[in-house]
Amino acid sequence: MEPVLAAVRVGPGKTEIRDFPMPDIPPDGALMKMEVAGICGTDVKLYKTPPSSEPVIMGHENIGYIAKAGSEFTRRKGFKEGDLVFVEHYVSCGKCEWCHQGQYRHCENTDWRSNPDAIRYGYTSAAKAPHLWGGFAQYVYLPWNSILHHVPKGVTPELAGLVTPMANGVEWSLFDGGVGYNSSVLIQGPGQQGLSQTVICKQAGAALIIVTGTSKDAARLEVAKALGADYVIDVDKEEPFGRIVELTRGKGVDVVLDCTAGAGTTPVLLGIEALKRKGGTMVVQGEMAQFPNFPIGKMTVKFITLKSARGHSYKACELALEQLASKRLPLERITTHRFGLKDVDLAIKSVGGQGVPDVIHASLMPWT
Ligand SMILES: [Zn+2]
Ligand SMILES: [Zn+2]
Repeated sequence: MEPVLAAVRVGPGKTEIRDFPMPDIPPDGALMKMEVAGICGTDVKLYKTPPSSEPVIMGHENIGYIAKAGSEFTRRKGFKEGDLVFVEHYVSCGKCEWCHQGQYRHCENTDWRSNPDAIRYGYTSAAKAPHLWGGFAQYVYLPWNSILHHVPKGVTPELAGLVTPMANGVEWSLFDGGVGYNSSVLIQGPGQQGLSQTVICKQAGAALIIVTGTSKDAARLEVAKALGADYVIDVDKEEPFGRIVELTRGKGVDVVLDCTAGAGTTPVLLGIEALKRKGGTMVVQGEMAQFPNFPIGKMTVKFITLKSARGHSYKACELALEQLASKRLPLERITTHRFGLKDVDLAIKSVGGQGVPDVIHASLMPWT
């Protein structure tokens, strides 16, 4: 049998193309032929500073066709050979309370931070048989407890590659932030994640969507407008708080979503200022290990609810796929670049702002 080619992270910022044996597929397993692996800001971080020294096939936002499916896999899960699917990066235990709620992201079986044996696509060591645990490869192995979604008809694999940021958009803005009809929202950071939040807030009926970025984000801020932002603010040119006060007629916004990267404490501090006087919600990613002088007094006086952005649920993925299928907004403005397997290193660096300029979302296509 022919070997499977994969791009393997072998150290910080270092990739090698390696081949792996084609796995045997048990009756309750399957094999996916990769079409598109989306690359996001998490890849940029994990590539620069890997959480372990193990060799890892990265790629955790994976779209492909079922190439081989065991009979039990098809019988229990309802996916058969030839189906176009999105595979979540979480691999659940199927038994715990989180799994039963469809909130696999909290399952111990897939939590690499606390469980050294956790399985998660794009994170698990390639040394662990059957090795194919990441999307930067021609094939990916699917065990019985992988979590799949059908890609709706009419959605191309490349467009489906947006499902992860879009599902985070549903989870963070709607489920965590409570955005809905007539909401006012501040979205900080116009990368693929901030733009996906914009799309979902627009679809949900938000009355005011403000997106912030820096001067190097000029092109992204234009895309934000095309996707539903009512106002964009370049924080290098304009003092954002004053502008937000003006746009909300002194009221402040209902919800703040922090989708910045590497901006330190500034976005959280702006968020606390920009939220309405009482009862606003802020969803944060919490990149920093510490937050000196956190204004907890102001936060509690303003009766702010602070929530942690943490991936997506099953329901959020299904809604995100519906959003992609609706063709309601020009989402092709987000899928800006394609890269082949040999160019994984360049692709990740480009998403991180070094390499090819003006990348918003990069699609890694392992067969090109
Ligand atoms: Zn991601
Ligand atoms: Zn579980």
